[in-house]
Amino acid sequence: MPASPTTEANAPPADMPGRNCPRCPRLVAFRKTWREQEPQWFNAPVESFGPRDARLLIVGLAPGLRGANRTGRPFTGDYAGDLLYGTLIEFGFARGQYQARPDDGLELIDCRITNAVRCVPPENKPTPQEIATCRPFLTATIAEMPRLRAVIALGRIAHETMIVARDLRKSLYPFTHGRAHAMGEFKLFDSYHCSRYNTNTGVLTPKMFHEVFALVREHLGAAS
Ligand code: URA
Repeated sequence: MPASPTTEANAPPADMPGRNCPRCPRLVAFRKTWREQEPQWFNAPVESFGPRDARLLIVGLAPGLRGANRTGRPFTGDYAGDLLYGTLIEFGFARGQYQARPDDGLELIDCRITNAVRCVPPENKPTPQEIATCRPFLTATIAEMPRLRAVIALGRIAHETMIVARDLRKSLYPFTHGRAHAMGEFKLFDSYHCSRYNTNTGVLTPKMFHEVFALVREHLGAAS
């Protein structure tokens, strides 16, 4: 049977919500408040960063208020970005200098970064409903990465969003720091989130974080 033509109605969702995405009323209200308070900030859903043909996708939670929500690039200006971008440079997944600004010239190599929830949530806590509402964008991001071989989930929410996005059962894939789960064409690697809270409390040390990246590097082969 010939494939039916792609129309607006059956087209897959784009991998990115529009600047004024209306889907989550609480996040829309929060965005409006911050657009009024800080008109120079980005204050919109934050796009994924890095090439679509990358083999590695890193999935964070959501933009930080004064970090990615201010600058418009995932993890940029967020405390968590210092450890993440430093580690990416160390393992050959980024080139240049991370200066916490979207125009710092940092280039991702074979790596793309996205968030489970694309808009900043109050107190860094998206609701289950908001996570579910934003999930189609993660599904679309994965679908648009033809060479994907590894995903790093930063924290339990990113991990569970990935499991549901793949139509798998959460009970069969428990979140475990340092563990890799086979998911067909790619492996899902779990890490505790590199948040200020986790690093300050010792839940995640730089060494533990590097160990996850070493596993991913081994899985993908040496950096070229
Ligand atoms: N900044 C992001 O973009 N994502 C996170 O998960 C944390 C900080």
